[in-house]
Amino acid sequence: MTQNGKIPFVDLVIPHRELQEELVAAFRAALDTAGFIGGPAVEGFEREFAAFCDTKHCVGVSSGTDALRFALIAAGVKAGHVVLTVPLTFIATTEAISQAGALPDFIDIDPRTYTMDPEKLRQYLETHCVLDPKTGQYVHRVLGRPVTAVVPVHLYGQSADMDPILALAERYKLMVIEDACQAHGAEYFSKKENRWRKAGSMGQAAAFSFYPGKNLGACGEGGSVTTNDEGLARKVSMLRDHGQSKKYYHDIEGYNGRLDAIQAGILRVKLKHVSLWNEQRRICARRYNELLAPMKGLIGIPYEPSWSKPVYHLYVIRIAYREELQEHLTHAGIGTGIHYPIPVHLQKAYASRNWNRGDFPVSEEAADQILSLAMYPSLQSHQQSRVAEAIAEFAQIHSVI
Ligand SMILES: *Cc1c(COP(=O)(O)O)cnc(C)c1O
Repeated sequence: MTQNGKIPFVDLVIPHRELQEELVAAFRAALDTAGFIGGPAVEGFEREFAAFCDTKHCVGVSSGTDALRFALIAAGVKAGHVVLTVPLTFIATTEAISQAGALPDFIDIDPRTYTMDPEKLRQYLETHCVLDPKTGQYVHRVLGRPVTAVVPVHLYGQSADMDPILALAERYKLMVIEDACQAHGAEYFSKKENRWRKAGSMGQAAAFSFYPGKNLGACGEGGSVTTNDEGLARKVSMLRDHGQSKKYYHDIEGYNGRLDAIQAGILRVKLKHVSLWNEQRRICARRYNELLAPMKGLIGIPYEPSWSKPVYHLYVIRIAYREELQEHLTHAGIGTGIHYPIPVHLQKAYASRNWNRGDFPVSEEAADQILSLAMYPSLQSHQQSRVAEAIAEFAQIHSVI
């Protein structure tokens, strides 16, 4: 709970303490058989996580980054292609695109949902891309390369607006790989299909991360690719294991990117609790919404479109005086985070691409103003009240409302 009255930004100790016996049993099961790589724990987890995501297949891999990279390669992204994503994401999204041999390019976000703006995707495809009749692919006029895939990011646990993205992808022959690394269990209401769809089940494939702080986290590294495409699942299985079709028969060059049996066993234990944890996160989000409502003029709270059932991996507010508020909360012993302070196109790693401030203004403004508050299933209402009180105190000192 609270240490010295401090409110931590994340609390990974409590859930592991509560599940300790089951987690230790999973570890012991791996020791007993000495089956550390592959085997029944990995296969069992893959079956169960596919069911959780409403997909036919799940392939366990060693991280969310590998999941993205393998999904892109298996879907058919090739060296020299252009792959579209958003600037407001973790750099793993664009690293995976580059490591698949492609060139990342960006579509700005919707200022309310922080996810890809489908209208801007449409403008990009209409103005920058032209059909090459020889290949049937759409080619970027300036870059001179085929644009073959789009990676919407379900940021903070909220699905991107997938219906229009999927419709554009179909029209422009783009593969869709969802970055669902923050969205285990999130749902999207598809008007087209008139049903709720799970994050990770809507594109050709999706990537999940089981980094410890994610809504479903391993006790170490882990990730998975989900898909309904059996051929794609088989390719990912080969890519994660040195391109083997069977032991020592390497049909392609692959990677060392497997999910290990200990993590799989641990993930099976935790998966049983994820729906409840997500519900607890939603309750915490509603409580924050109520507590912060009186400060509407100062604080922007997360926007939940009617088509979204988010899982609040993060609870992100917006304020023009972000640095000052963060400092005030730090002094009050209240942990916060910024996801992310620098949009990917302005990172030093991409200096050679010559992107500038102003290229993706919605992402840039968000990056300057967003602040993530403490959000985890064990967060207590009195802790949330203290966070809100500290924010109200800040507002009063600076008389900004
Ligand atoms: C965590 C995360 C990743 C990468 O996952 P790892 O398991 O850390 O490799 C990719 N994309 C997003 C949006 C993430 O939050």
